[in-house]
Amino acid sequence: MVFKKLFGRKKKITALEGPPVKLGARGAPTQAENQANLVAARQSPAFVTVKEWLEDIFKKRADQVVLDYTAAGVAVRYQVDGLWHAMPGRDRESGDPALAVMKKLANLNPKERRAKQQGYFAAKYLQLEFKIHLTAEGTKNGERVLLEIEGAEVKFETLDDLGMREKLQEQLKEILNQPSGLFVYSALPGGGLSTTMQGTLRATDRYLRDFVALVDKTKEPLPYVENIEIIEYDPSSDDLQELFRSVMLKEPDVLIIPHISDPTFFNQALEQTIAEEKLLITSLRAKDAVEALLRMLAMKINPEKMTQALRGVLCQRLVRKLCLSCRRPYKPNPQLLQKLGLPPEKIQHFFRAFNPKTDMGEDGKPLPPCEVCGGLGYRERTAVFELLVPREGLKRALLQQPRLEVLRQIARQEGHRGLLEEGLFHVVRGNTSLDELKRALQT
Ligand SMILES: [Zn+2]
Repeated sequence: MVFKKLFGRKKKITALEGPPVKLGARGAPTQAENQANLVAARQSPAFVTVKEWLEDIFKKRADQVVLDYTAAGVAVRYQVDGLWHAMPGRDRESGDPALAVMKKLANLNPKERRAKQQGYFAAKYLQLEFKIHLTAEGTKNGERVLLEIEGAEVKFETLDDLGMREKLQEQLKEILNQPSGLFVYSALPGGGLSTTMQGTLRATDRYLRDFVALVDKTKEPLPYVENIEIIEYDPSSDDLQELFRSVMLKEPDVLIIPHISDPTFFNQALEQTIAEEKLLITSLRAKDAVEALLRMLAMKINPEKMTQALRGVLCQRLVRKLCLSCRRPYKPNPQLLQKLGLPPEKIQHFFRAFNPKTDMGEDGKPLPPCEVCGGLGYRERTAVFELLVPREGLKRALLQQPRLEVLRQIARQEGHRGLLEEGLFHVVRGNTSLDELKRALQT
């Protein structure tokens, strides 16, 4: 049997050894074949290696893992909370049979090291169930393997879970409960927009008003929210204007149309929702709230109609939270605090991430990696929100001098807090570090 030869047979059955990770074969056309794949994989001593690898991946909460197989060994990288980290490499002696086990579990050919193969298998760890998507493909120097861990993401349900401060939540609810106008969500790709839309739409009065969503089925789906009717369209084949007319005949109170790419349609939707006094909710990709407004103008959205209808723009950025069990307090420089607009006399200390290179134990020796965050210093993410509610000065400037710096300055003068000011709330509370906030705002 080829498979047996490939793995070798140094020990007897070892599948019950190792960490408490339970593996399941998937992806074969029948249950019997999956079962046979699992039995075959369990014959290999590397079955335990795979369990050890996965335990480390689950403990560190990686949602993507890259394994680069070259002549020199196996380079390992984890993506945790949106950031890539290099991990200790592994040798080919244990790395090759481990990969063969994973391929077998995913019903792929373990001997194929060049052609692209894709499959998945299942794992269970501490009552949590994971689906592990495996993509392997030959490269110039060897083979690259990508593991995508489904089930590792943190679920947010409410605006509190998302880290939105109470005052902002109230303001936002007030805007979304207005009968008419334009409301815009904005974030960068991968910036958690879908989660925020779900959290905020859940906080609206969907049981008193009719919400209808028109969603481009070629783009990111609208997250599920109870009591919102979703109508999907295909921009290449559906007549959007026709569809919009039929939706308006239903007389909804609130229309949600995310990511409108056609300016003619955007203008039509805006005009009609103003005429019929509806609330129009849309979303677009932008770095901050002011930039979102400029993006709409660049799309040739009618500036008068836009400023007339605009109720608010909600923008967000994800930041990693400091690990509470290993974060370190420090006294920030008073000049820096002043520059950030914070009163130095009121700030006792900030927190920063643990640094394994400089933070030693009492005996002056390096400390073992923190159990809670796996030594990364951060654990999970929270969002920084800015809610721009345009006042008169900003509306005027949008029509007369629509330039980024001018608009930002006027917004600030009119009492708007941008992403930096909002992010500092998290820093002052010790939820995140100043370094992490800077990193998140630069991307
Ligand atoms: Zn920690």
